[in-house]
Amino acid sequence: MPSIEIIGSGITGLSCAAFFAERNCDVTVISSSNGPDESCCSWWAGGMLAPWCEMESAEPLIGELGLETMKFWEKFTSSYQKKGTLVVATPRDLPDLKRFGRRTENWRQVKEDQITALEPDLAGRFTTGLYYPEEAHFDPRQVLPELVSYLESKGVKFQTNISLSNQELNVPSKADHRIDCRGLAAQDHLNELRGVKGEMLLIKSNEVKLSRPVRLLHPRIPLYIVPRDNGLFMVGATMIENENRSGATVRSVLELLSAAYALHPALGEAEIIEIGVDARPAFPDNLPRILHKGKTTYLNGMYRHGYLAAPAMAKRLVEQVLGENTAPDHFEQFCEPDLSTGNM
Ligand SMILES: Cc1cc2nc3c(=O)[nH]c(=O)nc-3n(C[C@H](O)[C@H](O)[C@H](O)COP(=O)(O)OP(=O)(O)OC[C@H]3O[C@@H](n4cnc5c(N)ncnc54)[C@H](O)[C@@H]3O)c2cc1C
Repeated sequence: MPSIEIIGSGITGLSCAAFFAERNCDVTVISSSNGPDESCCSWWAGGMLAPWCEMESAEPLIGELGLETMKFWEKFTSSYQKKGTLVVATPRDLPDLKRFGRRTENWRQVKEDQITALEPDLAGRFTTGLYYPEEAHFDPRQVLPELVSYLESKGVKFQTNISLSNQELNVPSKADHRIDCRGLAAQDHLNELRGVKGEMLLIKSNEVKLSRPVRLLHPRIPLYIVPRDNGLFMVGATMIENENRSGATVRSVLELLSAAYALHPALGEAEIIEIGVDARPAFPDNLPRILHKGKTTYLNGMYRHGYLAAPAMAKRLVEQVLGENTAPDHFEQFCEPDLSTGNM
């Protein structure tokens, strides 16, 4: 079977490794990070698998990839929790809740008593909401190492802490195929790629319990709180057209914390464990792309949908690279055919 060199061990590279390993290819993953760690965008994600909520602003393709990917995660990881998503709004933002409902599907309206039944700690706080029962979530920081262990058990080799220079990347790989999954770092080869800054917080509260991701509609930020183990909550995430990954701003942190406080005042007493920031790799249409150039294939542009879209995209990439023609028609417009000349 062909030898495959994958550059990058974020969710995109690991997803590609999983589907090549499944086809018994000889797979090596090379990464500048020490496995999946805080230097990857994938480390900072909320881990929401919310294809219906995402339809509020995303293209239908994301929903289709998301449904496929959720089947993959459900089988793959024990940390997959299908408890749905609850969307609520303060009285001031109730018109936004109506608009959110009009733009999305597969929800049911929930009144105060039903919100209490779903999330007892939110009793009396919101009069109406939308519940998306088919959505799921997990903790990316559990799933990424789980994926690495699985790949090692399948014979995938890892070379970590190796940052390939542009010069090395321009030399053809010794492997039969090179798969470039460098996320935003691939801007040197993919000139349309941009970064969309995302800031997040990790807070800890022993007073508030939530079972599922709760989205709080907000005029500027798509705010959400995702429960993790041991009283931890991920509060995310800003969406700023800016590639600066050096630090979160005071304004963003204030807005994220105010949202947590608006959801439940007891979260005002929570401990701040972490403030995180990264830039999501995105193409102008915010859709992922597979691009072929010589012996290198690029998978990139996961934007805010790495966990929702990468496995389904990786499956299509593997089918294309190995010459299996099973990609459905609706997808092909998003896969650019051989770009054998010029900078992409
Ligand atoms: C705050 C925040 C919240 C998010 N929440 C969600 C969510 O709830 N659900 C969801 O689906 N998505 C979410 N996302 C988006 C998701 O995190 C990204 O889409 C995804 O992480 C992109 O993954 P990637 O593997 O393409 O890139 P990365 O995770 O950045 O991985 C790139 C890899 O390439 C390696 N690399 C780079 N350059 C080199 C080089 N020269 N040589 C060798 N290796 C190299 C890096 O070390 C790394 O391993 C969120 C993002 C942010 C910032």
